[in-house]
Amino acid sequence: MAKTIHIAVVSSPGFSHLVPIIEFTKRLLKLHPNFHVTCIIPSLGSPPESSKAYLKTLPSNIHSIFLPPISKEQFPQEVYVGLLIQLTVILSLPSIHEVLKSLSSKVRLTALVADVFAFQVLEFAKEFHALSYFYCPGSAMVLSLLLHLPKLDEEVSGEYKDLAEPIKLPGCVPLLGVDLPAPTQNRSSEAYKSFLERAKAMVIADGIIINTFLEMESGAIRALEERGNGKIKLYPVGPITQKGSDNEADGCLRWLDKQPNCSVLYVSFGSGGTLSQHQINELAWGLELSGQRFLWVLRAPNSSASGAYLEAAKEDPLEFLPKGFLERTKEKGLVVASWAPQVQVLGHSSVGGFLSHCGWNSTLESVLEGVPLITWPLFAEQRMNAVMLSDGLKVALRPTFNDDGIVEKEEIAKVINSLMDAEIGQDGSSFCC
Ligand code: UDP
Repeated sequence: MAKTIHIAVVSSPGFSHLVPIIEFTKRLLKLHPNFHVTCIIPSLGSPPESSKAYLKTLPSNIHSIFLPPISKEQFPQEVYVGLLIQLTVILSLPSIHEVLKSLSSKVRLTALVADVFAFQVLEFAKEFHALSYFYCPGSAMVLSLLLHLPKLDEEVSGEYKDLAEPIKLPGCVPLLGVDLPAPTQNRSSEAYKSFLERAKAMVIADGIIINTFLEMESGAIRALEERGNGKIKLYPVGPITQKGSDNEADGCLRWLDKQPNCSVLYVSFGSGGTLSQHQINELAWGLELSGQRFLWVLRAPNSSASGAYLEAAKEDPLEFLPKGFLERTKEKGLVVASWAPQVQVLGHSSVGGFLSHCGWNSTLESVLEGVPLITWPLFAEQRMNAVMLSDGLKVALRPTFNDDGIVEKEEIAKVINSLMDAEIGQDGSSFCC
């Protein structure tokens, strides 16, 4: 009988990091029934409803340990979301260490796998004589940036966003400095320092597990393998996405059942992306002006684009729509508050396009279902994903933002019509799904 292999997996708070590492764990256990995995889960205050609902579905063969939550109140409100997650993990390090110590007193720990935001955890691997692996829930292009950042940091003076020439990461589509992840936009910020620290830590691991796949990012993956020169082992295990199953009672799915094939634009900004009131108005008018069918997952406005990432708003988002919008668009559109079963929505035959903030999970889910996109990046590394989708893979259109960072209604209507009308071929056949 095969010997039991014990692995500890450390996630970071935030739905879109929690889900892919746990889905990875599920697959690991399916492929290797002799593995025993313990998931260690830090949290910041009470987890958002989406995370709570997901955690309730954990199978019994995943042994999970929830760490004492870190209190939100100790951080100022304006701290960048990535830094907040990082600080949560740092404050959880003593309890993570305690759990690992207790585990390894009972069994030999073979490996430690940590989400990229929990990189400090891998320093414990030596103490417990365990192998160490980073789990990157993003793209190979982002990993490539992380690995090159220490060099870029030395070579570039001034802000990356002011660079005249695009940055060429090996095997990746060229990127303007302004399209680099949000923390790199201000090099004197704490968020940048923490990002750089993470970048430097990547090379200490025995391997990097990444949620991408060759067919989507062959250039970047091959270049990373060459760069690692056998020393950094790369494991592109993707695409790992949540498995969706139809829910007879779900209003969105039943509404989609009644729409024509490939006719609906799905509009959603991830697990916690938010727009300003001004932008909500423009988007509503743009959707109306386009005359296309839509399913819009709406959140209450917020001054920060990641405003609902770690904590959902309490207000009813529908209150923030322009007057009469719901009545005027009721034949064509459906607006739902805060959440939709996205994997099932994207897999529905009525959906022909996705206006997305380009989070990596949404990107993978859309590409897997063959749904073309309109890119609307908000924070984190979403602008990089948008460039890959539009300039690299050529499966997305990029609307133009005005000087105030707003996409105006005419532009929205134009780009929606370009995407949705392109879905119907000359002979009337549709080629989106
Ligand atoms: N999601 C969902 N319903 C929603 C909004 C989001 O199921 O209404 C899921 C989506 O399918 C994806 C994840 O939440 O798996 C969002 O992850 P992503 O990386 O796209 O964005 P983030 O949440 O990090 O901004």
